[in-house]
Amino acid sequence: MTADWAALRAAAVDVAERAYAPYSRLRVGAAGLTGDGRIVTGCNVENASFGLTLCAECGLVAALHATAPSARPAQAAPAPPPAPPTLIAVAVVAGDGDPQLPCGRCRQLLLEAGGPELLVDTAGGPRPLAELLPAAFGGADLSARRDNAS
Ligand SMILES: [Zn+2]
Repeated sequence: MTADWAALRAAAVDVAERAYAPYSRLRVGAAGLTGDGRIVTGCNVENASFGLTLCAECGLVAALHATAPSARPAQAAPAPPPAPPTLIAVAVVAGDGDPQLPCGRCRQLLLEAGGPELLVDTAGGPRPLAELLPAAFGGADLSARRDNAS
């Protein structure tokens, strides 16, 4: 599946207008293309405590999961758990419509939502997330480093 970057940027610009950013006045929107062809979006939501502020990518990843097709089969037959929804392309923009690179926390969030191959729009064009978050920490590190790992 090829990303329509113009459509992703337009969706990000649209959702940036819904940002709640009374403190920084930096409205940010994020739009992602899922592996099953959906576009999901998120905007930043600030908080007076600052530490509780949510970046646009947080809303995007929440929407990715919240809007995924139903994971439960109609009948109660045992089945393996479905694969989690996946992002394949993400555009993040500031209110001016220009690409905005995700912060470090959000690069980590996006890694788990799309993997190192996830394409992220930048001013220089789409780049794989692995270039923006090299030597990343992931779920495999947890299972490999647990106390009871053998
Ligand atoms: Zn962030």
